[in-house]
Amino acid sequence: DGNAAPRRIKALDPDVVNKIAAGEIIVAPVHALKELIENAVDAGSTSLEILVKDGGLKLLQITDNGSGIDKEDLTILCERFTTSKLQKFEDLQEIATYGFRGEALASISHIAHLSVTTRTNNSDCAWRTQITVEDLFYNVPSRRRAFRSASDEYNKIIDMVGRYAIHCHHVAFSCKKHGESSTSISVPANASDVDRIRQIYGASVASELIPFSTSDDRWGFKAKGLATNANYNIKRPRWLLFINHRCVEVLEYPKGHRADLLPLPSQEWPPIRREVNFLNEDEIIQALCEHIRSKLAAVDNSRTFLTQT
Ligand code: ADP
Ligand code: MG
Repeated sequence: DGNAAPRRIKALDPDVVNKIAAGEIIVAPVHALKELIENAVDAGSTSLEILVKDGGLKLLQITDNGSGIDKEDLTILCERFTTSKLQKFEDLQEIATYGFRGEALASISHIAHLSVTTRTNNSDCAWRTQITVEDLFYNVPSRRRAFRSASDEYNKIIDMVGRYAIHCHHVAFSCKKHGESSTSISVPANASDVDRIRQIYGASVASELIPFSTSDDRWGFKAKGLATNANYNIKRPRWLLFINHRCVEVLEYPKGHRADLLPLPSQEWPPIRREVNFLNEDEIIQALCEHIRSKLAAVDNSRTFLTQT
């Protein structure tokens, strides 16, 4: 009723703040693993090994051969807003790493048990970093209960790892379920684009790919990728899109285009969200579609020509 006294405002306990913030970044195990993969790639790794138990809820482990972490930094590694990638605001203009906000490890450490083993170049031991995340959401029971099936979570993980394994040239990826001897994904460091697609999506798609590459100064974009040709038919088309090397789920699948698209475009700013909007989006999509269509038409014409002669 109107006579009730206002409720008093109080500062939240930092632990509550941290848990809420973490829950916004890490909604499912796949989001934690994505952050760990990006950190390993940022550290210049050429080999990533991933181990997953119970869809990542019990265990997410990633071992890389990147630069490692300085022993003296381990004490602040999991604090919020601590990073080796950004120093001043202006650096954002030219940031070339996935990370820069120093939030991921802090977030994960608030909702899971996180442990790190690392060796740097100048230590005598092997050059590797291993990050282990156990019992994700152990202290967020409502979130924990929301997961029905470990295999659904594992499928999301495989889908995401596959995308990075295709995009990150010169990096070897392996991903497997804990307790299984065979890997779900295995790509050697020297695999080509098409090799990577073959390993992950199979030979039938890999053998029908047409490379394309286009740019337009008016809209300020460069794009390259691979599209399947008319020989390849699939009920549910799949589209892998990276903008400035970030995996995004931004654009609608171009209408009236059946083939798979696997483009790797680049634009001059760093989006930070999984879903992004950007300037001239419609024009860029249209220019891209026109280019791909002309590429595919050229292939179809040459095929027609061959059958006619
Ligand atoms: P960000 O990636 O935004 O800097 P993170 O919380 O993801 O923030 O990581 C914090 C810091 O920890 C990074 O800036 C990096 O210096 C270090 N780090 C994390 N993972 C690795 C790794 N696998 N190898 C080397 N350094 C790492
Ligand atoms: Mg990071």
